[in-house]
Order: sequence, then C-alpha cells, then structure tokens
Amino acid sequence: MLKTTRRVNSPGIQRTIIQKEGEQAASPGETKSDDPKTLAINHLKANPGTNKAYAEWILKAKDLEFVTFCYASPQINLDAIIKGEKIGKVDSSKAEIIPALNLIHTLASKRIQKWIDKGGDKPLLNVSSIIRPEGQGLHTSGRAVDITGFDFASEKSANDIIEVLDSLEKGTYEIGLPFQGPFFDLAEKITTEDLQKLVSEKQKSDKEAEVIELDGRLILRFPGYYKVRYDGTDSPCELKNAKQRDYKGPAYNRLKNADLVRKIEQMEKNGFTLTIIPDNNGHIHVGKST
Ligand SMILES: [Zn+2]
Repeated sequence: MLKTTRRVNSPGIQRTIIQKEGEQAASPGETKSDDPKTLAINHLKANPGTNKAYAEWILKAKDLEFVTFCYASPQINLDAIIKGEKIGKVDSSKAEIIPALNLIHTLASKRIQKWIDKGGDKPLLNVSSIIRPEGQGLHTSGRAVDITGFDFASEKSANDIIEVLDSLEKGTYEIGLPFQGPFFDLAEKITTEDLQKLVSEKQKSDKEAEVIELDGRLILRFPGYYKVRYDGTDSPCELKNAKQRDYKGPAYNRLKNADLVRKIEQMEKNGFTLTIIPDNNGHIHVGKST
C-alpha cells in the first residue's frame, strides 16, 4: 500500500503524520497545504507585480495543472523571462509588464476561480505560443497568446471561445479564429492561387487596396478589417468572399455560430474593441492591441 508522509502545521507544534493515499486528513485545526482547492485559492491570492513574478505564477499554475504547453516555446519564453533576458524585441527586465503574461494570468485566473466555485475537472489552459520572432504581429511585441486544446471542429467549441472572450478585461483585442466547426467557413478560405490572382488584379484595378512588402511578405491590405497575405509559404488564412462582397465589413459577420456573433456584438456595445481575424486552424489567437 502506498503511503505518503506529510508535514502538518498545528498551532505551536509541527508533527508528521502518516496517511494512506486518498484519505483525508481530517483533524480539526490542521492546515491541509496540499489540498488542491486550498492550493488554487492561495495561488489566486498571489499578485504578480513583475514580469519574473508573472512567469513564475504561470509556471506554478502549470504545476497545479491549470496551465499546460503543447509546444516547448512557451516554457522557453518563461524561463528566459525569469532570467530577465531579451526575447527578440521584448526586454523582460523592464518594469513594464509584458501584455501576453497579463493575458495568460487573466485567462487562467478566471478559469481557476470557476473551478474553485463549481468543481469538476480542472480547466487546463493550453498555451501554444507567446513571444515570437520579428514579423509575427502582436506576438513579436509580446502582446499575443495562442490558446489551443479545444475541439475546434465541434459546435460546442463556440461555447469554449465565448468563455475565453468572457474572461477578458475591457480593452482592444485582436482575436484570430480558425476555418473550422462553428467559426469561419472553409469554403471562404482563399487558396494560394486565388491570392496570387487577387494580388495581381488588385494591383491593377483597386485603388483602395494597397500592396505592401513587409519582412519579405507580400501583403495586400484592404481598407477596414481584412488583410490578405501571401508569402508563398504560409497558408493564406483570409476570407475568399472578401474580394467579392463587403470586404470593408468586420470579419465576425462571417462566423457561423450565431451565439458567438451575438457575444462579439455585445462586447462591442460594452466598450470592447474587437478585431476578429481568420487565422490558422486549431487555436484561438488573443492579442492585446495598444
Ligand atoms: Zn497568434
């Protein structure tokens, strides 16, 4: 039989008790410091004030099984931040809090609080990317985080994404959603061939569209919310019908799930500014705009 030895603090004395695994230590007055709920409550009370403290908080949340990483890069980012290193353009030694750390803290905290209140399985926040090299939009400046781990092909993932949106503090965000399930329609996704054709047509005919080169990428920028990119390697992520219809309109109108559309409209009414962009499959991109 497995046994665990734990130290328990009682007023004035410290003693060691032997406990069978799975049993509750029930003596009155004892602090069960390894009780998952107590650990979660204590973790929420910790108030990180520096980039190092935020990174440590996230890694502790990982130890407590509220956060996980599906690739190595988030761990590498956080280890570098704890050392105060520079990651590309982001200098983690500065006092200014890296917005992506604050985003992860906010998203994880809301989910931990819900678990404390309602119980059930621990809500694992699956972070796939934080800070990235030059030319990666808000990731480059440490302002974005990619979250994965939801079943994006299923209808119910719309609710998961609504819950993520619900966790955000009021502000201006860039939200990337996939061509899957209740999100963008795959039939609207522009192919590489479409895009090559579109770029050459637009260069000739559309005075409103602007073709620019950025970090070796050819980018076609429409007025309004749509941006079409082509660099010959990335799979283009934008909406096919943007070129034929109201490409000045916000992309969220093309989301398939009506609850999600309503949620976005409601948030806009409540003072959020959200730019919803079509993005690669398998994740939600959350960026905090300046
Ligand atoms: Zn992203």
